[in-house]
Formats: sequence, C-alpha cells, structure tokens
Amino acid sequence: MVKKIIKNIYPTIKSKRYWVTFCSAFAAALTVILVVFYNTTVNAYISPFTPLDLRDSTDNFEEESTLPNNFDASEIAEAEEPAKDNVYHIEIKKGDTLIKVLTDLGLEYQEADRLFNSIKKVFNPRDLRVGQVLDIETHSSDEGYLKVKSLRSTIRTGEYLEVDLSEDSSYSSKIIKDELTEEMRLVDGTINGSLSSSMNSNGVPSRIVANFINIFSYSVDFRREVKKGDGYEVIYENYLTPDGQFVKSGDIVYAALKLGKNKFELYRFKNSAGNVDYYNEKGLAMKKTLSRRPMAYQSSRISSHFGRRRHPIYKDVRVHWGVDYPAPTGSAIYAAGDGVIEAAQYRSGYGKYIRIRHNSEYSTAYGHLNGYARGIRSGVRVKQGQLIGYVGSTGRSTGPHLHYEIIRNGQRVNPLTVKATASENLSGKNLANFKTAVAKVKDTRNKILAEKNGENKEEQLVQKEVATPATPSEL
Ligand SMILES: [Zn+2]
Repeated sequence: MVKKIIKNIYPTIKSKRYWVTFCSAFAAALTVILVVFYNTTVNAYISPFTPLDLRDSTDNFEEESTLPNNFDASEIAEAEEPAKDNVYHIEIKKGDTLIKVLTDLGLEYQEADRLFNSIKKVFNPRDLRVGQVLDIETHSSDEGYLKVKSLRSTIRTGEYLEVDLSEDSSYSSKIIKDELTEEMRLVDGTINGSLSSSMNSNGVPSRIVANFINIFSYSVDFRREVKKGDGYEVIYENYLTPDGQFVKSGDIVYAALKLGKNKFELYRFKNSAGNVDYYNEKGLAMKKTLSRRPMAYQSSRISSHFGRRRHPIYKDVRVHWGVDYPAPTGSAIYAAGDGVIEAAQYRSGYGKYIRIRHNSEYSTAYGHLNGYARGIRSGVRVKQGQLIGYVGSTGRSTGPHLHYEIIRNGQRVNPLTVKATASENLSGKNLANFKTAVAKVKDTRNKILAEKNGENKEEQLVQKEVATPATPSEL
C-alpha cells in the first residue's frame, strides 16, 4: 500500500514545480511558528523583569519604548520560569499615580486599591513627588495571584514610608522618622541691597529671614533705618538626620542688627507661662507695647482724658488728642518705646515738644515740656525707658503736666485703650532663667565664632605657605 502511494506521488515529487510550492509553504509555516513563539516568550520575559519599560507613558513617549533596548534573546530562556518574588526600584514620573504604578507591575486593581488604602492611613499617596523612589518587592502565590510583599520609600529627608504584607495577607503601613540632631547655625553679613536679599544670598532660609524681620519690626523701621553697610547676625536651630542631611530649620535663638553705630541684640526666651518672646540682654521685651505712662512720677491721676472735653482755657468743647498726666515740674519723661526722635522743638500750643517714631505704624508725642534731656534732638535713636525730657507747662497749659499722644498710622489714638502687644519685661525667676539662657547662647556663639576663625586661620596658613617666596639662600 505504501509502495502504491509512493508510486503515485513519485512523479509529482520529481516535478520541479512541486518543489518550489512545497518549499514556499514550508517557509511560510516556519515563519508563523517563529512569530508565535517569539511573541509568547517576549511577553513572559517582560512581565517580571521590566515592568517599567512597559508602562505606557503619554508625556514621555520618545524616551521609552515598549521593548527594552538591550533585548537579548538568550535571556528569554531564563525568564521562562518566572521567579515568585521580584524587586523593583521605581522612580515616580509626571502623571504617575500609586494605583497606576502598582497595576503596571501586574497587580489586580483590587489588590492595588487595598495597598493604597493602607498607605492612605499614614501618607496621602497623592503626595507622591515626581522623582520619589518606591522600592517594591512583589510576591506571587502558587495560584499566580500577585501581591506586594514590601514597599519602602523616602517621603522626605529623614522620613520614610514602610509597608509590609502581614501573615493574614493584610497590609500594614507606617512612617518611620529619623531621630534628628540639632545644630546651631550662625550666619552674619553686611547688608547690601535689602536685608532679606542679603540674608538669602548668605544661605539663610526664607522662613528664618521672615522671622528675623518680624522680631525687629517693633523696634526698627526697616525701610528708613537699614542702610547699605549695616550688619546682621543670626543664630538659629537646624535639624539634621544622623548622617548630617538638612531636614528643617527651627527657631532663631539670637538675632542682632548693627545699624550705624548701634547694635541691637535679641535673645529668644520662653517664660514660665510658656510664652515665647525676644528680649534684649537685660530682659526687656522688644515686642512690647508702648508705655501708657512714660514717666518717672508714678501716680494714677489723669487730669484730662482722650476725647471730647470742655477746654480749660478756651471754655468750649474740643477734642483732646492725648492724655494729661499731672506731675511736678522737672520730673523725668521716658521714651515710650524704642525709636528715633522725629522732632524735639517748640510747637505752638504743645510748647516744648518731642515726637518719637517707633516703627512704620506707631509714633508717640510729648508736650508742655520744661526742657529736653541731654543729646535729645531730631534723628537720635532712643531706647524704651530712656530719659528724653522733663515735665513742664510750656505752650497752652494750665499747670505742670505731661501731654502724651500715641499716633497710629498718622492718627492720634487713645493711649489708654490702644491695643497693646502682650509681652512684658522679664523679672524674678523668669529673669534669672533668662540670664542663664543668654549665657548659654553667648557660649555657643563664641564657640562657633572661634571655630570659624580657626578655619580662616588655617586657610590663611595654607595661603601663606604657598605665597612664601624662596629665601635668597635658596636662589
Ligand atoms: Zn493735653
């Protein structure tokens, strides 16, 4: 029978036409088989090892191809037996979401969502930054169901997200924080342009610059008083990771401004009531209210209040723009707050008159003076409590008293009701604790400065060695 078939076919096989047809058909079949084989193996290869390259990216398509560039057919063989656990190092790209990253790894949507909800309890997955790295280990069960075994990510310097798969197949997420070390940083410099730009260019964080200006805002009028060539110094806390990476800045512990010949130094202090404020070395609060009664003569008597009144001389109803404090002629008048003397001159009804500009918001005025204290003239800087003049009865006055005004944004306001800031000067135990704190800051400051000088000296020494010319004997 076989013989019979061969006998029948043989003549056909012998024909040239038959062989051409046969070879073409065989080649075509082989191609189909190869293509099918190639596709299946490539898919098997890509899924466990190169999930990122498969992730579809609409904003970055030029840089990514669906197949790895270094595709090597020899690796196909290795990939045919998929490993159960895989490790991925994924960098978040623009447009990525956690769900997308996880489903791209091959996770079912439900599984990815479970993980998302676990993470959400400690960290909002929508806060993932572009460039943030996720180290993910996946595990596929015997049934081929894919889960995340662990996920690690640095959220920010010194702060880490850790997710682990529990034995009961639930996810547990937590945030681990580095124990931070505190360091004192001292920055000093000369003001060139604005204070903030000078500090910024010296590496002081914007938050610290803003706090610095705020601390001094009650005693310094930055627009008018700070000039090119003035100096500043600030010591503030820095928080670092154990390996010395900057995490955040803390509080300013010392702030100094050198305006011309005047140097203003402020120290941070938390009093026993827990209030934080800045004080000068003597414990006087800088952010404090203007005195309501800026004089030595202490009596609660007020001869005339602020507001409408029947005028003692003109005998009609007029507005009294200040408060009158009766006191013996010649008793001391003090500056109600730090500031600059704006006027110290005779002014019609006021008689001998002083006006002090304290900051961009407040000025105070003093009338009917008997005389001015030594050195008090326009342009001179005064400190709160400094003697500026003496009680008298010059101008339109019925007897010795101080006429006192507080001017806010150009408007005279009632000195007894103007809203005052709460800070008080330090006394008693607070003052004692403050002095200890000041001594500590000074000590820190000296140490930092000594270190800085040491470094400078070393630099100078190196330069000297290089610059030393050869002695004549060596020539
Ligand atoms: Zn008055």
